[in-house]
Amino acid sequence: MIFIDGSFGEGGGQILRTALGLSLVTGKPFNIKNIRSGRKKPGLLRQHLTAVNAAGEIGKAVVKGNSIGSGELYFEPHSVSPGEYNCQVGTAGSATLVLQTVLPALLSCKSASKLVLEGGTHNPYAPPFDFLNYCFLPCLSKMGVQIKCSLVKYGFYPAGGGEFEIDINPARPLKPFIIREREGLKRTSVLGIVSDIPFHIAEDEVKIVCSEMGWDENTGKAISVHSSGPGNIVLAILEYGNITEVITGFGQRGLPLKKVAENVVKQVKKYMESDAPVGEYLADQLLVPMALTGQGSFCTNSVSKHTLTNSEIIKKFLNVRIQYEKKGENIFEINIQGGRYEVGEE
Ligand code: AMP
Repeated sequence: MIFIDGSFGEGGGQILRTALGLSLVTGKPFNIKNIRSGRKKPGLLRQHLTAVNAAGEIGKAVVKGNSIGSGELYFEPHSVSPGEYNCQVGTAGSATLVLQTVLPALLSCKSASKLVLEGGTHNPYAPPFDFLNYCFLPCLSKMGVQIKCSLVKYGFYPAGGGEFEIDINPARPLKPFIIREREGLKRTSVLGIVSDIPFHIAEDEVKIVCSEMGWDENTGKAISVHSSGPGNIVLAILEYGNITEVITGFGQRGLPLKKVAENVVKQVKKYMESDAPVGEYLADQLLVPMALTGQGSFCTNSVSKHTLTNSEIIKKFLNVRIQYEKKGENIFEINIQGGRYEVGEE
């Protein structure tokens, strides 16, 4: 039995998601207290509850404490059953984070799975669908997993109502993934998206990002999409030889569009100024799958609290060494050794 204090380090939902994911992979039960106590609204929100219940269903688990607002959970999986699942958050809570929870088990078992996930697809403080599709999942492909993902409907906060589908063809064994240097820049593009708000907002945001970055305006595009409610995001997609980085700015009521665009520009500059291939968000998300390969190494431009916290939770489940080394100004190398695991399934 593994005991986890959810107030540890970052104190957010990732502690719970990593614990659920690795409990499914290893079959080890866990008990977590103080769930998300570092957040304004602590405990299980709809998104976390959906993740708990999805993990419970996929792992035929005994689950106690799975109710809205709960600060404590007991989770004891039995056997992982890959297959077809439909996970509905039911609010605008992030559907991509529900995927983050169950993916480690589904990518390291024998048979294929197909998931339909409903909820938010483009939420602040969560990976937007495009990040998943262009940045994170291609890294998993390099570990040997075949993944196909498609967006059915955009879901923005607060209305939600989004949907995406994903086909996962696992790899056994997962291949080690090493990415220490960034190859040359091949292409940049900027995409401004609006739903149910004036189109010029997306157009203006794209223009600002292109002009402040000195990129040709033709590399930018504004689109209006159908969704259950209003929404706005701006994406900068940077395609390098061996990695694609996706940087997102989220529009909010009361936040001037110039600020949304400038926030993207600031993040893009930070990423481009370092030679590290892995951005801050990808870094914390790569740790779990990399640990499952048994060996991995990457360079990132920053080591976030999410990354450090996630490392400690991973070490509770897997016999793994995760080492950090500063290699230069804004370049940190993370090396992972041991921990390789393949899911026993029914
Ligand atoms: P938590 O705050 O613990 O619920 O974890 C949030 C997760 O969302 C982490 O894995 C972050 O890397 C990820 N995340 C947050 N914002 C972004 C973003 N803009 N792009 C990609 N991933 C993100």
